[in-house]
Amino acid sequence: MNLCDIHQIKLLLARHGFQFSKNLGQNFLCDEAVPAAIAEGAGLTPDTCVIEVGPGIGALSAQLCKRAKKVVAIELDRRLPAILSETMAAFDNFTLVEGDVLKADLPGLCQEQFGDEPVIACANLPYYITTPAITALLECGCFKSVVVMVQKEAAQRICARPGDADYSAFTAQVAYYARPSVLMDVPRDLFLPAPKVDSAVLKLDLWENPPVKGEKTEIFRVIRAAFANRRKTFANGLCIEFGRQLPKQTAETLLCSMGFAQNVRGEMLSLEDFAAISVELHNFLMKTGG
Ligand code: SAM
Repeated sequence: MNLCDIHQIKLLLARHGFQFSKNLGQNFLCDEAVPAAIAEGAGLTPDTCVIEVGPGIGALSAQLCKRAKKVVAIELDRRLPAILSETMAAFDNFTLVEGDVLKADLPGLCQEQFGDEPVIACANLPYYITTPAITALLECGCFKSVVVMVQKEAAQRICARPGDADYSAFTAQVAYYARPSVLMDVPRDLFLPAPKVDSAVLKLDLWENPPVKGEKTEIFRVIRAAFANRRKTFANGLCIEFGRQLPKQTAETLLCSMGFAQNVRGEMLSLEDFAAISVELHNFLMKTGG
């Protein structure tokens, strides 16, 4: 059956007594060109192993299975396995794992399913878990690349440059793990039911090694300081984050010694800047016993 044909989807769901769950972010693709383009954009080959998040009734899963060696899909909705066992019956390289991707042991699952083979993550993500799901997929260290459909604004935020209105802490954190690019925009009317927003497919190519020097937790702490207090200068943000360890004048002196203006705003700084500042701060705090 065509898993993207609205008429056939409706008949299938009615036969299973299935109603869409808003809480689970269920908007299924209903134009076959889109999942095909996502699978193409992910650069799958017959050797590729894939983890899919949220297969739904299998619109994207089928396109992944046609191109990849093996696809393991994690689905939270307990009503969907019965439907998937019907819609994915033709694919012997498809495995369904029931559960919540945010609670899954992704390294354990990848090891169990794929051994040491390189793996790609692919998903039409439910909007409500965009940030934690991308974080989990990047942090687990399992994937060569992560290709996800997200709300268009979320994709723009992740690809933003320092100084852009939508540049955020998450932008800099994602840049620590991967190089982001937008593969394509997907209008809302290509989903059933249609969401209130448009989407975009985001590709995150993970770095083999971190692109900057410094300790990740310290770099992320500096990023947090920059964006937690958007109306304050970055020096002020650092003081709030580091408290008595870092008086404001010391923070300003440190920034000036690195060539930044003392009143620089955090949202003007790149990941490279945050990393360099975290190293300087680390050295300063070690010297002063902070
Ligand atoms: N892949 C299908 C498609 O493109 O038509 C469905 C995509 S739909 C936007 C999101 C899917 O993720 C749904 O099947 C939903 O039940 C599932 N889901 C929601 N929360 C989840 C979670 N925490 N872990 C795994 N799957 C989840």
